[in-house]
Amino acid sequence: MTDMPDTTNAFDSSHTASADEAYDDAAGYYVEGDPIADTKAPSGPLEERWGTRQFEARIANPANRRRLSVIVVGTGLAGASAAATLGEAGYVVKSFCYQDSPRRAHSIAAQGGINAAKNYKGDGDSVYRLFYDTIKGGDYRSRESNVYRLAQVSVNIIDQCVAQGVPFAREYGGLLDNRSFGGVQVSRTFYARGQTGQQLLIGAYQALERQVAAGTVRCYTRHEMLELIVVDGRARGIIVRDLVTGEIETYFADVVVLASGGYGNVFFLSTNAMGSNVTATWRAHRKGAYMANPCYTQIHPTCIPVTGTHQSKLTLMSESLRNDGRIWVPKSKADCDKDPREIPEEARDYYLERIYPSFGNLVPRDIASRQAKNVCDEGRGVGPAVDGVRRGVYLDFADAIERLGRPAIEEKYGNLFDMYARITGEDPYTVPMRIYPAVHYVMGGLWVDYDLQSTIPGLFVTGEANFSDHGANRLGASALMQGLADGYFVLPNTIRDYLAEGPFDRIAEDDPAVLEAQESVRQRVEQLLSTNGTRSVDSYHRELGHIMWEYCGMERTAEGLRKAIDLIRSLREDFWRNVKVLGAADSMNQSLERAGRVADFFELGELMCVDALNRRESCGGHFRAESQTEDGEALRHDDQYAYVAAWEWTGEGGTPVLHKESLEYEFTEMKQRSYK
Ligand SMILES: Cc1cc2nc3c(=O)[nH]c(=O)nc-3n(C[C@H](O)[C@H](O)[C@H](O)COP(=O)(O)OP(=O)(O)OC[C@H]3O[C@@H](n4cnc5c(N)ncnc54)[C@H](O)[C@@H]3O)c2cc1C
Repeated sequence: MTDMPDTTNAFDSSHTASADEAYDDAAGYYVEGDPIADTKAPSGPLEERWGTRQFEARIANPANRRRLSVIVVGTGLAGASAAATLGEAGYVVKSFCYQDSPRRAHSIAAQGGINAAKNYKGDGDSVYRLFYDTIKGGDYRSRESNVYRLAQVSVNIIDQCVAQGVPFAREYGGLLDNRSFGGVQVSRTFYARGQTGQQLLIGAYQALERQVAAGTVRCYTRHEMLELIVVDGRARGIIVRDLVTGEIETYFADVVVLASGGYGNVFFLSTNAMGSNVTATWRAHRKGAYMANPCYTQIHPTCIPVTGTHQSKLTLMSESLRNDGRIWVPKSKADCDKDPREIPEEARDYYLERIYPSFGNLVPRDIASRQAKNVCDEGRGVGPAVDGVRRGVYLDFADAIERLGRPAIEEKYGNLFDMYARITGEDPYTVPMRIYPAVHYVMGGLWVDYDLQSTIPGLFVTGEANFSDHGANRLGASALMQGLADGYFVLPNTIRDYLAEGPFDRIAEDDPAVLEAQESVRQRVEQLLSTNGTRSVDSYHRELGHIMWEYCGMERTAEGLRKAIDLIRSLREDFWRNVKVLGAADSMNQSLERAGRVADFFELGELMCVDALNRRESCGGHFRAESQTEDGEALRHDDQYAYVAAWEWTGEGGTPVLHKESLEYEFTEMKQRSYK
């Protein structure tokens, strides 16, 4: 007799919403506005749409480009690639980041790889298969036209990066090597050991620096965008704070591109860089850019477990490890505190291989994460207990080391193993790693059309900052693909259609919209510094993160989400009454920087909960306990929720307006995902 239950989830199925029941859990928290449509995506055969759009998009002639200016906020893969390509095309580009070098953008942390439909392995891959896997992986909540374009462009990215000298791993025959990531049955992930993001970013940075030398791009490091300037309904500039001198500065341009990354740090603990935040996109949201699907969060299954309340950062162990590592927990609770090496094979539950025999350990992230939570909730987690619960599962390389030999494993994953050993003090070559899901990526972001233009004309959004291509769950190694697709290939081809309308009027420095934006930044800085309360910014952030994780994390319920909204509102009020921000406005002040970001996280967090409350279905990473299949899988309700939720800001204390963009599937059939 073991403690191992069958695979059905213990949730009372009488709460399961049937497709024809109409709920409005979020009634009172929002109002519904007009539907929204993506008017830029061409119709016609799927494979011809991107070509059609590229041809139809107008071109600014080279002489005019020298008079057209572009601001790019962000120097990660999405921003650096965009700025470099636009510079090369001849536009006048200003590039901003808050780090001391463009090369320190969070993209540098990406470990595992980047997808492309090259089919170098000859294992049946194709553009169509990458498209299909991504649509299915996103649980039928992304746009077909966008995803097909992404798959088409993926092959160009690899060529571009190789030409830049990115040292992708190669196999014996000399071709670039590939490995597998979750949710697919082919090997299409290109990688540079466990440092793929770093190598790709060095490539993009070189391209950027080439343009700096050529005089087309000017970089403003240690500058944080705090406001968007919108004049006559168009994005025309940004207000930034020089993070070294504290000076508030104004920059104008004909078009603004936000490539400012994701907002996973709203959860406080995440695998994101400590500085990752929502401020750039949130300020644009407050100026009229709709925020789409903000509740879609990716919780990554292979992170080093939380060890206590002292932590402010979690560490990812790349998904690539699931190629060779096997995930298991003891079958019996009684074995959970034993040395794993002493637990015999027959007493182990390789639960992913058991439940999903076709995909095994390579099921998509949302599914692997939820199953890890389930086995830990059953009391079969491993590792030290935190708050009385063991939240960890084993990722075991013993079989792979026996099969391939230790040198092969060192060659593939050496730096990841070293990192794990340094953080945990355990040797993963001899003792199975312990992993647990953690917040990692956000599929939500600013709404953009096929051209990557937001609802504010002249404001474009690329990379993780937009909501575009991953639906309700992103497949591994697809974020780098999307960021570089956007920056090197998509944006440069679509933004020209907008810029071809130029030359645009000069903006007067005393334009009321400019003065208003400057004043609002000054007032906010002053307000944060003058509150002079008793509580640190970090303690508010930690508490907000706890609320988000508890009620808007891996499993969400109507009751929990309503509670979270109340808690967030009162915590936000308390923040503005009682926060203590040290230092001054006119010098480097990291406490002030963090305070501004946390203030924006409060507003975002509330909207995420409203969005999650409205969507009474489960899809991808959004798991509503009220909507699950009999065996505990996410249950969508396509008749009610096959839409993108695009939210409009209506002012502080205002009720957000929901605009629905209907999702049509012409080339794929929407069905219940199965990885069994
Ligand atoms: C640990 C980890 C590993 C990952 N591994 C992979 C992987 O192997 N494969 C994969 O496909 N994806 C991976 N991802 C996801 C991927 O790394 C990110 O989605 C991607 O790098 C985001 O790129 P980006 O260019 O959109 O934004 P970022 O790289 O986050 O860059 C944001 C930029 O915006 C700037 N910025 C932000 N706000 C402001 C502001 N207000 N003012 C001025 N500048 C601002 C920052 O300075 C920075 O330059 C991983 C993520 C993590 C956390």
